[in-house]
Amino acid sequence: MTSLIYQTDAYLKEFSATITSVDAGTRAVVLDQTAFYPGGGGQPFDFGSLEIAGVIYPVEKVKKQGDDVLHFLGGTDPLPSPNSAAAARGTLDWVRRYQLMRTHTALHILCGTVFRDYGAKVTGGDMDPLKGRMDFEFENMRGELVKAIETATNLEVQQGREIRVKILPRDEAFQIPDLIRTKINLLPEGIMQVRTVEIVGLDLQADGGTHVMNTSEVGKIKVADYKSKGAINKRIYIEIE
Ligand SMILES: [Zn+2]
Repeated sequence: MTSLIYQTDAYLKEFSATITSVDAGTRAVVLDQTAFYPGGGGQPFDFGSLEIAGVIYPVEKVKKQGDDVLHFLGGTDPLPSPNSAAAARGTLDWVRRYQLMRTHTALHILCGTVFRDYGAKVTGGDMDPLKGRMDFEFENMRGELVKAIETATNLEVQQGREIRVKILPRDEAFQIPDLIRTKINLLPEGIMQVRTVEIVGLDLQADGGTHVMNTSEVGKIKVADYKSKGAINKRIYIEIE
């Protein structure tokens, strides 16, 4: 089982850990704890490196499998033996990760603003560093409307709203009306804790991703494009400057 440091400290760039298992065939290493985000909720997994016994291995892919986080190591250097319990030092590609944090928070600002101003719910989303897209239940989308959304979204960036992350017992989370709106009821029954990300005064969601601490860190959001994806489904593309 891997303890997920990024869930409570998104700003940790380097960490120490112990290797709990190694699969030589796939070059996948499991750690007792990790700051590497394994991907999910539209946010891609992190890149970076692991230093083990003086050898620096690139982390080329990260994946959650059950309670474990698998770090797939590149290069050709041999891996430690599976039962060595070797120490590892992890370092994130912080430039990219921080861009993804700003992008992920920007998408939540967009989602919160569009729901507040138009009552439109999100149906999907995806992101890369400094750009993302989000689909909304909207019947009509015009240039003026998109401009108004862009202006309102940037106002929320300038407000400097605090972002709070909590891990709540399932029963408690299910009492929160804002979370019910974001389809929290679709969470599998086995999940007993729900992580919530709140942009204070704007948006509250069940979310596993990494976010900045304040909306002012996001920077200027540009609505780059929009398109219709069906009668009641419209897609908005954003870029972060
Ligand atoms: Zn999210």
